[in-house]
Amino acid sequence: MLSAFDSITSSSSSATRNDSNNKGRWEGGGTRWKEKVRGCCLFNGMRCQRIGSSRVCNPVIYRETKFCITGPHFPATIFIVIFTTVATYIFGFLAADVKSNFVDPNGSVTMHKVVCVFFWCLINALLMATACQDPGIMTGPKELPPHVASDPALYEQWRYCNKCEIYQGPKTRHCKECKVCIDELDHHCPWMSKCVGKGNMKAFKWFNVTWIVYFIYSIVNLFND
Ligand SMILES: [Zn+2]
Ligand SMILES: [Zn+2]
Repeated sequence: MLSAFDSITSSSSSATRNDSNNKGRWEGGGTRWKEKVRGCCLFNGMRCQRIGSSRVCNPVIYRETKFCITGPHFPATIFIVIFTTVATYIFGFLAADVKSNFVDPNGSVTMHKVVCVFFWCLINALLMATACQDPGIMTGPKELPPHVASDPALYEQWRYCNKCEIYQGPKTRHCKECKVCIDELDHHCPWMSKCVGKGNMKAFKWFNVTWIVYFIYSIVNLFND
């Protein structure tokens, strides 16, 4: 089956700031091109592209790695980064210093801070791995595969998505927020900015394991004399 990974490359690899397909307009009587979509990757001539409501920040990196695509709720992901930073500062640094002054003068505060910074890095790396990875966006097939059409049992499991105009396999579902069909869609997670599906499920699971371990570690350390 075709994925967004396959389809975007053909149009994106030659995309430049001045191509005729971008969403810009001519200003000043047609003397200056004003781009409406500005990307973070204009340094190499590539523009941001959209798939549904997701933004491909750099089509080349996306084509090679399936990373560099952010969902419609990316501000919520930034909130998680700020939240973990503030929580690490309060519980990892401030609380540890207070505790070392009044409760446990002989405790290893430095080691505790190193552990907290390590968890902070790991959590945010996994957060970005989930939030900036293709969750499994489908752009095909446009026609029912022959092996499905010839098998009544299989045919029953396939549906047609009128919005994406593609055929959905048994595990593919459409997301109203992302406005695309996702392979093995689990759910749409605003905190991850996008859907959690086949592509980013592994990173999402490790993100959850890591923050839970960090949370338990912080609570135990806080109340352990
Ligand atoms: Zn769809
Ligand atoms: Zn979604």
